[in-house]
Amino acid sequence: MNTLSHGLSWIDLQFHGRGQVIAAVLVQGHGGAAVIDPGPTSCLETLELGLQASGIRWADVRHILLTHVHLDHAGATGTIVRAHPHVRVLVHERGARHMADPSRLMESATRIYGDQMNHFWGEFAPVPIDNLVGLTGGERVDAGGRTFDVAYTPGHASHHVSFFDSSSGVAFVGDTAGVCIDEGYALPPTPPPDIDLELWAASVERILSWSPSTLMLTHFGPVMRVGPHLSALMENLQTTAGMARTLLNEPGTDEERGARFAERFRRERRQHMTEAQVATYIVAAAYEHQFSGLARYWRKKAG
Ligand SMILES: [Zn+2]
Repeated sequence: MNTLSHGLSWIDLQFHGRGQVIAAVLVQGHGGAAVIDPGPTSCLETLELGLQASGIRWADVRHILLTHVHLDHAGATGTIVRAHPHVRVLVHERGARHMADPSRLMESATRIYGDQMNHFWGEFAPVPIDNLVGLTGGERVDAGGRTFDVAYTPGHASHHVSFFDSSSGVAFVGDTAGVCIDEGYALPPTPPPDIDLELWAASVERILSWSPSTLMLTHFGPVMRVGPHLSALMENLQTTAGMARTLLNEPGTDEERGARFAERFRRERRQHMTEAQVATYIVAAAYEHQFSGLARYWRKKAG
């Protein structure tokens, strides 16, 4: 258990036994408790141990706040709600329909993960419509005894929202502020199908307008150097997007280009970090999928 502020903590979900890949946030206060991005079902046991360690029972948890519906953030939600039907799930309205009926989401994830799907993520159960609260951004929501500002922050996913707790200064930004392990490289995760560079830059501005003292990243943990981190992230997004654009003009299939992209990126990263760190970044954001998300963006832009 790691404390962000009074009543705000995060736990390392130890994704497949590996630390520093996925974090979930626990909120507790007079109004009960809440979880922000509970993670995948394959990590549910670790989440429950974390709740126990914080003295939280599921009966206390009234809300789950989702930054977006990707499996690594939202996967366990339906399984939790099935066992604890009093829990309300707050999610962007565009993501809400995928939570109610995950079949299309599962289809697109299966294209990426194939027969590894269940092993990696476990079950993705639907959430009954009556448990879902649709967000659009701009509202304020009460959960876990505090009030969060909600902002619509697309770029990584078209249904991404971020939450800000002004009392602690912590912004819960999901993947909008990228992946960053041990204050290292700020990696923009760019899986298909929603990547949009312009929207992403606007979302980063939106987050900065809160003047947060801390960014809480799902991958991985709190970042205190908010300004420098976000500028590095935007710079790295431009660089990797440029790399993908160059590759699109090279011969070969997308699969070959994706492999080349991953290889170049890996080589580049090895100059700046240890092999173990490179491996953790690969788990948090598989490099091959990074290419397909960017390729899709450039092709859409070209019309
Ligand atoms: Zn993620």
